[in-house]
Amino acid sequence: MIIVLKPTCSKEQQIKFSNMLKDNYDVKVNVWEGVHSTVLGLLGDTTQIDIEYIDAQDVVESVKRVQEPYKKANRKFHPENTVIDIGNGVKIGDGSLQIMAGPCSVESEEQIIEVAKAVKKSGATILRGGAFKPRTSPYAFQGLKSEGLDLLKIARKETGLPIVTEIMRASHIDMFENVDIIQVGARNMQNFELLKELGKTNKPILLKRGLSATIEEWLMSAEYIMAEGNNKVILCERGIRTYENFTRNTLDISAIPIVKKLSHLPVVVDPSHASGKSWLVEPLAIAAVAAGADGLIIEVHNDPPHALCDGAQSLTPQQFDTVANKVFSLKNALK
Ligand code: PEP
Ligand code: MN
Repeated sequence: MIIVLKPTCSKEQQIKFSNMLKDNYDVKVNVWEGVHSTVLGLLGDTTQIDIEYIDAQDVVESVKRVQEPYKKANRKFHPENTVIDIGNGVKIGDGSLQIMAGPCSVESEEQIIEVAKAVKKSGATILRGGAFKPRTSPYAFQGLKSEGLDLLKIARKETGLPIVTEIMRASHIDMFENVDIIQVGARNMQNFELLKELGKTNKPILLKRGLSATIEEWLMSAEYIMAEGNNKVILCERGIRTYENFTRNTLDISAIPIVKKLSHLPVVVDPSHASGKSWLVEPLAIAAVAAGADGLIIEVHNDPPHALCDGAQSLTPQQFDTVANKVFSLKNALK
C-alpha cells in the first residue's frame, strides 16, 4: 500500500501516523521524503487495512493498494490449485471436467428422476435443480422449497449423483445439511451475512458471480466464506450485465483465465444463464472448456416448452448428450 502525505504534514505528524500504522497493523513502514511531500510504503499484510479509513486521515493526500485485498482466495499465498472433493468420486479442480446438469427448478419426482438419469448417462457427475428460486417477479413460480430438496435427495438415491441447489437465506442452512454443494446465486453474491454463515459450515459452496460484479468483488465474496474457515469455494461465471440485450447476459470468457491466475479456487461456467438461449449453450460451453474451466453447469429439462422456469435456455436430454460429447472430446484433446 502506498500512502502519499499532504505537503502540510509535519515531520512530527508523519512519525505519529507511521507509528499508528505499525502499532495497529502487521506492517513495516518505509518512508521516502521528497521535496514537497512524503510517501509511505507499507510492506506486509495490508488486507486488514481499511483504505477508506486511511484516506480519511487529515495528513493523507492519497492512498493506493498495490496488493489484492483478498488473501485466502489469493494464488500468491496458495500456489497449488484447490481441489474440492464432492464425494462419490467427484473432484472439482483436479484437472478433470465435471458437468453439473439438471432442470432450472425441481418440478416433480418424475421430472427430476427422468432428467437425472438422462444427464448421468451423458456423463454429468452432479445433478442441479432449484428448490428455492430467486425470480424477478413475485408472481412467478418460486420453487417447491423443502419438498424440492426432498425430491433432489430421491433423485440422488436413484442415480448416485451428488446434488447442487441454491440457498437464499442463512436460516435455511440446517435444511441444506444433506445437500452436497450449496449454491449462492448471482443475486446473493454480496449477501455478506449469508456468506459468513456458509463460511462456518464445511460444505462446498458454488459461488455465482453477481450480475454486475467485478472480478475483485467476486473474489472478495469468496474471501468472506473463506475468512470464516470454509475453503471449499467453487467460483461460477454465469455472465454479467452489459449493454448487449440479444443475450440474457454476456459471458465473460476472459474471467476464466483471469480468476485462475488470481486465485487457486476452481471455476465452473454456466452457459445457460449466460445466454438465455438453448442454441447458444453448446458454443459457450465449448469456449468455456477451451478457456480452462474446471466444470460446467447446464440446464436440462425433459420438456423445455413446458418448463416452469427458464425453458428457453434449457436443453433437451438429447441436446445435452451432444454438448457433453463435444466438451469431453475437447477436454481430452487439450490434455
Ligand atoms: C440458477 O442457477 O438457477 C440461477 C438462478 O442462477 P443465477 O443465480 O446465476 O441467475
Ligand atoms: Mn435457471
